[in-house]
Amino acid sequence: MSSFDSFDFRKEAHRVADWIADYFEQVERFSVLARVAPGDIRRALPESAPENGESFDAIFRDFEHLILPGITHWNHPGFFAYFAITASAPGVLAEFLSAALNQQAMLWRTSPAATELEEVALAWLRRLIGLPDPFEGVIYDTASISTLHALAAAREAAIDGVRARGLAGRSDLRPPRVYCSEHAHSSVDKAVILLGLGHEALRRVPADSEFRMRADALADAIDDDRRAGRQPIAVVATVGTTSTTSVDPIEAIAGVCARERLWLHVDAAYAGVAAMVPGHEWILRGADRADSLVVNPHKWQAFSLVPEYLKTTEADEVKNLMDTGIQLGRRFRALKLWIVLRHFGAGGVRAHLAEHMRLARLFASWVDASARFERVAPVPFSVVCFRLRADDDANARVLERVNASGDVFISHTKLDGRYVLRLAIGNLATTERHVARAWELLNQAAEA
Ligand SMILES: *Cc1c(COP(=O)(O)O)cnc(C)c1O
Repeated sequence: MSSFDSFDFRKEAHRVADWIADYFEQVERFSVLARVAPGDIRRALPESAPENGESFDAIFRDFEHLILPGITHWNHPGFFAYFAITASAPGVLAEFLSAALNQQAMLWRTSPAATELEEVALAWLRRLIGLPDPFEGVIYDTASISTLHALAAAREAAIDGVRARGLAGRSDLRPPRVYCSEHAHSSVDKAVILLGLGHEALRRVPADSEFRMRADALADAIDDDRRAGRQPIAVVATVGTTSTTSVDPIEAIAGVCARERLWLHVDAAYAGVAAMVPGHEWILRGADRADSLVVNPHKWQAFSLVPEYLKTTEADEVKNLMDTGIQLGRRFRALKLWIVLRHFGAGGVRAHLAEHMRLARLFASWVDASARFERVAPVPFSVVCFRLRADDDANARVLERVNASGDVFISHTKLDGRYVLRLAIGNLATTERHVARAWELLNQAAEA
């Protein structure tokens, strides 16, 4: 019954395809947040793997009855938490094909297509966001790994012989420094820790009243560190910070980096793709002077794919992908990028991004007109930070009540020490109706 021979792949694939199609059509029937308690899913499952193989029928039944209840529906149009995303239909199909081909693209010969398509698809993306041709890239699973890689390159450039001799026990080294704004992502902290620079190597530079890194404060920090005998290595500037999506002044920061001969890494994980929308080109102005840059298109909706890390290097005749990234084997992610870009077209992607920014501005206008709520940050993209005009506890209670509705999911952050609500728009299926529902629920919760 369960041997591979008797497994009817064609039939099961059709079943799964139908299930996914129904799911896409009916996702709003689910509560956005899973309604399970910690441990529920684990307890429903056996402690050990089955000794004998089971039928796909039985497995699929359990998927529906045991697994699905524990799913928080990121694909729900009422998902406004963190950075909202979409698994788009073409993206899902691309993953299906990529799984079937099962490529490990470490050498060109182990997958000529994955190797070359990655180059082509990244060049398409690079042009869409207006980066110059010398940038070439790698597709990684996450922005965190991309930033780790970028800072490894910065460390290599700044510290003599680090590849061979490492850092431990070296009296010839001064304590290193990496700079980012106080609003930069925690992946920068993780990178300095993983790279053996030590967490104390990270210096967070103060931001202005709109949460952007102050280039003058950066220059002062570098001076201060040099005088104290430290070795500045790199600066991480953020385009679209995680809390408020503020944009650090890349041009001014690039000027400081050039003067000080420091590696400039641009973390454009969330907002980088917005540079392709007319009127938003300015967000990456100066990024052509960066040494590395990461974009996370899956953070937004428009295409659901994977982040990539772009790095300036010399072009080779044949590229072996294992030489350009951290891992050896790697998935055929370029297929997804290529399929999704072709499916939507640049115009389609731009239109979706622009619509999400319009919805965010609309929501912000409701907040601004309301006596009950106040906005606490500018809205350059598709995220709105706001709060009830009340104490932190009241804000937390509003959030809890709204999320218990099952219709929407909103998250929070802290700004200037205060609890702040945060609505992030990024799902392909999200329309004005869903944003209006969030506003209605927020007002009901505030009244209660
Ligand atoms: C989300 C985010 C990251 C980390 O993204 P992952 O792909 O989940 O590692 C890094 N930087 C910024 C600005 C982000 O918004």
